[in-house]
Amino acid sequence: MTHGAPRRFRNWIGGAWRDAGGPELERRDPATGAIVSLFRDSTAEDVDAAVSSAKAAFEAVWSATSGAERATILSKAADNIRSAVDELAYFEMAESGKPAKQARLEIERSAMLWDYAATQARSITGDSFGQLGANYLAITVREPLGVAAIITPWNFPFLIISQKLPFALAAGCAAVVKPSELASATTLLLGEILKDAGLPNGVLNIVAGLGRSCGDALLHHPSVDMISFTGSTAVGKHAMRVGADGLKRVSLELGGKNAHIVMADADLDAALDAALHGAFLNAGQSCNQGSRLLLQSAIAEDFTRKLVHYASRIKVGDTRAEGVLVGPIINKQQYDKIAGYIATGREEGATLALGGTHREDGEVRFVDPTIFTGVKPDMRIAREEIFGPVLSILTFDTLEEAIALANDSIYGLSAGIWTANVSVAINAARAMNAGTIWINTYLDGPPELPFGGVGESGIGREVGRQGVEEFMDIKTVQIRSGGYAPRWIGSTVV
Ligand code: NAD
Repeated sequence: MTHGAPRRFRNWIGGAWRDAGGPELERRDPATGAIVSLFRDSTAEDVDAAVSSAKAAFEAVWSATSGAERATILSKAADNIRSAVDELAYFEMAESGKPAKQARLEIERSAMLWDYAATQARSITGDSFGQLGANYLAITVREPLGVAAIITPWNFPFLIISQKLPFALAAGCAAVVKPSELASATTLLLGEILKDAGLPNGVLNIVAGLGRSCGDALLHHPSVDMISFTGSTAVGKHAMRVGADGLKRVSLELGGKNAHIVMADADLDAALDAALHGAFLNAGQSCNQGSRLLLQSAIAEDFTRKLVHYASRIKVGDTRAEGVLVGPIINKQQYDKIAGYIATGREEGATLALGGTHREDGEVRFVDPTIFTGVKPDMRIAREEIFGPVLSILTFDTLEEAIALANDSIYGLSAGIWTANVSVAINAARAMNAGTIWINTYLDGPPELPFGGVGESGIGREVGRQGVEEFMDIKTVQIRSGGYAPRWIGSTVV
């Protein structure tokens, strides 16, 4: 996966590339500092052009297409994504700092979401109400909301747009997408991929740029019917406030501080693999990161020793290098934040069992896998989202304690538990406050399963059948087939 000169991108509006009017922005590879892509920030006028294009395409074409037509286009898009895997994986790796192999797997996994959304396009149904009495029938019809504004983060750029866009299109919505300014390329490439798949012009529009300019203009646009946002809790709250003013549907996928519980009776080798995967995938820059590892006291020492052993062997470095599993940190702001939390963990009295080391060389920054033990529930490293390769280990004696620790968080995105006892597993799953619970697995999930959070992790669900319904409204149709009984209290006309 090597590409030469930086690629210049433009916005994708009305089925064609269009220049944006704002200042030029560049994205550098966080592993090398080299410029990967160039694009211009989008102004409010650019965003208006994109939303107008979406609105026109929604009204004139897309809302009236059949599920079968939408399914054909989405399936073809999945094929096109697979054909373009080299280019997509390159930009995903180079812009967001993912190991090359991981970037490729994420593109392949994303294609499966497009395949699945195609099946959903043909499966949208409403209800019928046949028991309302003689001459009275009612049905509910699901209808697309209209124009969806989709705003995404940088950590899993292509996976996250693939958790939203194909589902919006399956529902019959038109879309304006704003990717993160730190990783826009793979989303921008979707314009041509979908046009080649047969998507009518204007149904998908992509505007590149900064959150405070392009993103904010999109949130505020009066013709946007729905906001689908993935990113930080702080910006998600802002999106919700703006959405409230326009009474728009708002769906939010936000941060997490996820509890990953290991009971003493678990398959400990499997749990060890999952703990490493949960903590250090994507350099820990994952909303679902198993960032709070809760170990039952009886196994804590031995489990921690093995975890430290394997984590110390993780190769950190340039994403192109063979065997690298933890790549660079996305930017200076995140790097400083992670380094700050490592210092805080020490100051708070946690024990640094591994790592804590980090380095910055110009535009390139790395943090080594870091494990804190002896973490107490009130420490900041146990409560706040660090978004880096930093793991906090807490211990407990009873299941009740473990559940109390797991639920002691403002977040509620996901949680995991490892145990051989099915009753313990089920009771824990029911008692933990999170949108997804993994039992004897972690960071798992096929496209059939809805995903989303509770508390400050978000509102709404994406993926699965619910992922399509999120972009739809319900219309109730009531039918009297005779036997009308006068209803107007003063009426004598019937
Ligand atoms: P972010 O909130 O900084 O940015 C997300 C998107 O919002 C970007 O496209 C950004 O440009 C845009 N944005 C920023 N300010 C805006 C504004 N004022 N108006 C409109 N748009 C604006 O988040 P990030 O740093 O890109 O991503 C990391 C965060 O995302 C973490 O908190 C992580 O947990 C969360 N995340 C959640 C999920 C999930 O599914 N729950 C998945 C991935 C990431």
